[in-house]
Parts: sequence; C-alpha cells; structure tokens
Amino acid sequence: MGVAKQLYQLQEVDLEVESNERALSQMVSQLGKSEAVVRAQSKLASEQQRLDELRHQQHSAEWEIDDIVSKLAAADEQLYSGRIRNPKELTNLQHEVDMLKAKRDQLENNALEIMDQVELAEASVVATGSEVEKLEAEWHSQQQQLSADVEVLKSKLSALQHKRQLLSAEIDSQAVEVYDELRKQKGQAVAKVEQGICRGCRISLPSSELQQARSGDLMQCGSCGRVLFLP
Ligand SMILES: [Zn+2]
Repeated sequence: MGVAKQLYQLQEVDLEVESNERALSQMVSQLGKSEAVVRAQSKLASEQQRLDELRHQQHSAEWEIDDIVSKLAAADEQLYSGRIRNPKELTNLQHEVDMLKAKRDQLENNALEIMDQVELAEASVVATGSEVEKLEAEWHSQQQQLSADVEVLKSKLSALQHKRQLLSAEIDSQAVEVYDELRKQKGQAVAKVEQGICRGCRISLPSSELQQARSGDLMQCGSCGRVLFLP
C-alpha cells in the first residue's frame, strides 16, 4: 500500500475520533444538569410560599372576625339588657352596634376573597408539584440513558485510538510527522485527487504532480501543501 493511502486511512480514523470526541463532550456537558427541573422547583417553592402567606392572612382574618363577633355580642347584650336607660347612651350604643356589624360584614367579605385565593394557590401548588415530579422522573431516565451512551462512546473512542496507534506504527515515521504537522496547520492533511483536481484547494494539478501522486508515494500539492491521494 502506498504511503498516501496509509495516511488517508489514518486521517479517516482521526476524523472519526474528532467527531466522537465532540459528541462525547457535548454529552458530558448535559450530565447532571437540568434547567427545566430547577426552574420548576423554584416555581413550586414560590407558589408554596404564596400559599403559606395566604393561609396566614386567612387565619388573621378569622381571628379578627371572632374578635368583632364577641364585641358585638357584648354590645347587643348591653343594648337589650334594659340596664341602660339614658337615651343618648342608648343611641351611642346602637351606633356602636351598627359600626361593629358593618365592620364584621366587611371582614367576612374579605375572608371569603382570601379563601378563594387560598383555593387557587392550593390548586397551583398541586399542579406544579406534579409537573416537578414528572420533570424529575424524565430527567432521571435521561441521565441514565446519557450515562450509558457516554460509556459506549468512551469505549468506541478507545478502540479508535488503538486502531490509530496500529495504523501509524505501520507508516513511515517521517511521513507521519509531515501528516501530523499538516493536521495541525490545516485540519485536513490528506486531500483526495479527483479529475486531476486537488480536493483540498480545488486547483488543477500539473501533470507532473499528478503522475507522482499516482505512484502512491508521499507527494504534496504544490498549491496547498496537502498530501495528495489518488483513490
Ligand atoms: Zn491542494
């Protein structure tokens, strides 16, 4: 086998290694991370906090109502006890009873509104809670799949690296040096020649270069410097 073909095969392995390494690092970057889960968890936490606040407001409102109701009972009792006979005092007391009733009605309306909000907030917490559970379960199984894929890719890569070692050991070491240097400079070190054209730089090769390339020996494109390979 000509050295050009050997280098071409080496390059095929190197390109495969490169693409697998890219895939691997992309997979590794997805391990252990889930923005969707974190977002849903923090949404749940703030909804839970809102629910706690509303429940607290609900209890305060109920206590306030209890307080007013007992004041009202006391005032009512006084009003109808017959102990107060002074008309001005009675009028004042009646006025106080009316005020307390108005206040009680207002507080009761307020408490009903809070109760509605509590119910809505409870429903949100339940919905978001099950969304979080679902996302966590999905994430968990994705992570398991991803870890398995990473392992498969790692062993594929080590097989490829082993293949590369075997291939490069068979190639003339000076040719491998030229190849490695070109890979560093140009990414692609070996260019196919098709219809007399170097596929690396798309320039027509002079017939002398073409003839030398045909022999399969190490021949570099006069224009781009890549090793020419005639399939
Ligand atoms: Zn070229």
